[in-house]
Amino acid sequence: RAPGLVADLLARGAPTTTVFLAARGIGSLTRADLRDALDAWRAALDRAGVPAGGRVAIVVDDPLVLAAVHLAVMGAGRCSVPLDPGAPGPELRRALRRCGAGVLVADDDAAARVPELPRARPDRRGLPGAVPASCGTLVPGGPVTPLGDGAATLLSTSGSTGEPKGVLLDEERLVHVARAVAEHLELTPDDRGLTPLPLFHVNAQVIGLLATLVAGSSLVLDRRFRRSDFWACARAHDVTWINVVPAILTVLAREEDPPLVPPRLRLVRSASAPLPVAVRDAVQALTGVPVLESYGMTEAASQITAVPLHEVCPDGSVGRPAGADVAVRRPNGAAAAAGERGRVWIRGAGVVTGYEGGRSAERFDDDGWLDSGDVGHLDDAGFLHLAGRDDDVINRGGELLHPREVEEVLLSDPRVAEAVVVGLPHEVLGAVPVACVRTIGGPSEEDMAADLDARCRSQLARWKCPVQVVVLDDLPRGSTGKVRRADVRELVSPAS
Ligand code: ATP
Ligand code: MG
Repeated sequence: RAPGLVADLLARGAPTTTVFLAARGIGSLTRADLRDALDAWRAALDRAGVPAGGRVAIVVDDPLVLAAVHLAVMGAGRCSVPLDPGAPGPELRRALRRCGAGVLVADDDAAARVPELPRARPDRRGLPGAVPASCGTLVPGGPVTPLGDGAATLLSTSGSTGEPKGVLLDEERLVHVARAVAEHLELTPDDRGLTPLPLFHVNAQVIGLLATLVAGSSLVLDRRFRRSDFWACARAHDVTWINVVPAILTVLAREEDPPLVPPRLRLVRSASAPLPVAVRDAVQALTGVPVLESYGMTEAASQITAVPLHEVCPDGSVGRPAGADVAVRRPNGAAAAAGERGRVWIRGAGVVTGYEGGRSAERFDDDGWLDSGDVGHLDDAGFLHLAGRDDDVINRGGELLHPREVEEVLLSDPRVAEAVVVGLPHEVLGAVPVACVRTIGGPSEEDMAADLDARCRSQLARWKCPVQVVVLDDLPRGSTGKVRRADVRELVSPAS
């Protein structure tokens, strides 16, 4: 793969400009630092005999180091495979075997979990230590990397519906979406973003790292979200926008005292999962800035649609196409009418045309459209509204129930922090809905369940009401923090 767009992005701008900053402490990386990292990795990978397109697995917890190495590997024409640095040894080994990497870049913590594997150790600025010579795959038994597939990065989907799928994204797709996002959010060199999202996921990579480079702005990176000093940190760095997920906004919405928001803050962006309207409204009221919801997928190099900055958008809508084209189709493939619910299909310069390993070909049609698996409708004004995933629909005796509708009712109780409604098998009806909630404070579990049951009965048709409300301390999540519905189902199914 010839080095291209990412190297071009890194080559632009004044060397002394700060690009990435550590949320805590004093670490930062300038454009010159990122270029040094690129040059050093290119030389080291050349020396180690890693071919163009060869895969480099990166398991690094420090977000500044990870950002420098990831961009350098892509810029040097190799394929970066960032993996969850929190994964325990056996999981890490499985991920390494699956991804076909020939080189492992790991920090000391990660290396200690797979001590048998040779690795390159990045220093605090992301510069490479000695890179062990590579020969196809790092882990015996792994797939031999198919070279020449043009990919700059191999990412995993979140695994919400099953095993995560491998998505290969090339530089064109990544930079296309990064440009769309920078334009959409009107990012300028004066902007400074903040994101506490994991960098091994597409969102923080494209919306965070690449959109920042495209716009010539800067970005504060945090390892993880910390409620206690989130706003203090945002203020200390004088950030103008924040990129988070609904689970974080749910926590922020519950602040008792209005936070001292950074004076230049102009927007909050939420993506990855449905944002409950009540949470959006609460955060808008607390911060005084718009909360813009976006809809994305790993397969689309993140953003597909987004709520516009300057347009009033109907409640619950994920906005207009801003990254990819969207079509809503009937089961027979015909276009659905405005307002009519159907499957959401996507296509565009950022959308892949297949999965790694050629899996799930049936989800792509001949014209390059991808079936997202999500259900929704486009309204008269062209705004997309999502009802949920087709897989999550509960067929209760022939009536199709979208969990989201019930979840919004549960979440309208201020004591409910998170709500997930899943279908459990039922002898007569086929399936019935069961609600699982995580609460904050509130009465005993029994009283809480009774209150929520009453709330559902007063606001929903009888058949939509959960047959049971289960109060849990926490919900099962994947590595990107998303709730795994399959695991919730298992947790509450009578057989378990
Ligand atoms: P897997 O594909 O492995 O089952 P996943 O679909 O959760 O996991 P991602 O690519 O991280 O993996 O997430 C994309 C999905 O997230 C979308 O298909 C959609 O279901 C959901 N999603 C993203 N943004 C939103 C949003 N704003 N509202 C509702 N759902 C969203
Ligand atoms: Mg998916």
